[in-house]
Amino acid sequence: MSTTPAVMAIRGKRQLGEAGKVRILNAQHRCDRCGAQAYIRATLRTPSSTSAAVGQLYFCNHHGREHEAALRPQSTHWLDESRWINRKPTD
Ligand SMILES: [Zn+2]
Repeated sequence: MSTTPAVMAIRGKRQLGEAGKVRILNAQHRCDRCGAQAYIRATLRTPSSTSAAVGQLYFCNHHGREHEAALRPQSTHWLDESRWINRKPTD
């Protein structure tokens, strides 16, 4: 099995890319406002709760941007996968 350095470089790059860019959101996640495919997830900690109860809101890119200024400061985690919008699901 002979592998040229060029091929190894490509493989290494691809593996790095996959490891660092695993999608969490998929077509099953829909925007809470309009029902479009969600690319942004806001994880909110319930202020009154003493447990680790959290709420999650899903947004398409459009509504994510619209609500980001208000929601992001209240979010424990802001997941933005909008970079995947124009990619094929198998990429
Ligand atoms: Zn939307």
